[in-house]
Amino acid sequence: MIAPLQSWIDTGGRPLVIAGPCSAESERQLIETARRLRQDNRIKVFRAGLWKPRTRPDSFEGLGAKALPWLRRVKEETGLLTATEVAEPEHIRLALEYGVDILWIGARTVVSPFIIAKLAEALQGVDIPVMIKNPVHPDVHLWLGAIERFQKAGIRKLAAVHRGFYFFHKSPFRNAPMWEIPIALKSELPSIPIICDPSHISGQRALIGDISQKALDLEMEGLMIESHLHPEKALSDSQQQLTPGALFHLLDQLQIRQKSNRIANNKLEELRAEIDKIDAELLHVLARRMEIIDQIGLYKKHNNITILQLKRWRNIIAERLQMGTEYGLYDEFLHKLLQIVHEESIRRQAEIFKDKQKGKK
Ligand code: PEP
Ligand code: MN
Repeated sequence: MIAPLQSWIDTGGRPLVIAGPCSAESERQLIETARRLRQDNRIKVFRAGLWKPRTRPDSFEGLGAKALPWLRRVKEETGLLTATEVAEPEHIRLALEYGVDILWIGARTVVSPFIIAKLAEALQGVDIPVMIKNPVHPDVHLWLGAIERFQKAGIRKLAAVHRGFYFFHKSPFRNAPMWEIPIALKSELPSIPIICDPSHISGQRALIGDISQKALDLEMEGLMIESHLHPEKALSDSQQQLTPGALFHLLDQLQIRQKSNRIANNKLEELRAEIDKIDAELLHVLARRMEIIDQIGLYKKHNNITILQLKRWRNIIAERLQMGTEYGLYDEFLHKLLQIVHEESIRRQAEIFKDKQKGKK
């Protein structure tokens, strides 16, 4: 059983907001950032990385245990809950000793079931919330497996953190959001609260607002956003941190939509029923198209004509593209759709040619 988020943290029915610097850099930085963030009561949890999993050596690797008393001071002075990343059983031991309220497991750690098993073992019998980031690559089962290992160790206050996925191709994001992956996680484990980390998805300040809005529109239950008093001077992730002021402004802009509103739901039901009808028509029309394709296939076979007739296909594309564009359909979508329909038509005709050959034997 996974405890609902609202049972362990009171957000007043609003999305949970976790904010704070990527890394703890000094006692003063931590206390002053927390005091500033505290001025907005939508922020409930203060995050700061102490042990930083850096991809390359020689980057700033965090101040480690030295910063734990500072985090405790943040909690005592501001009343904010505190959260940090743990990657070794020793980190867990120290974080518990210093009263850190929430632990999170980083994306690079979640890829290793061996490490996750050790961390889960270190948490056996401890009642502390644990947030599990998605693994670096889009593997929903690895993510799920990590959550299950903590569940088996008796942790009930669990949340998943969507922080995007490494993507080899060029993209505007540091980590591609691939929204279908957290959605798949939610359908496998509907009780898991999902929090979005738009900072690590975006990698740049300008995209954080849109990603945050999208996360809320997909019913994610909270946001973890990196915030630094002087982002340009931050020792890690300087491009993706917001000043507290910019963060407050971003939170002001977010639309928090109703999850269940009867009037909206009725309208939504009506529109969904319409879509169901249209999809049924669409499939019927496609099936009709394929029947005709089969007849064409037979005709070509009987008359010894090749399946693929490039010239005709080019004409079809040009004509349908124009027609579709006039209907307001997006060019790239039309290309993909026509391509898929064409591939299936060729496949069916090839089947017909094969059958005929079989028949000859
Ligand atoms: C972080 O939250 O600063 C961090 C290192 O995150 P991730 O594990 O998502 O890269
Ligand atoms: Mn970071």
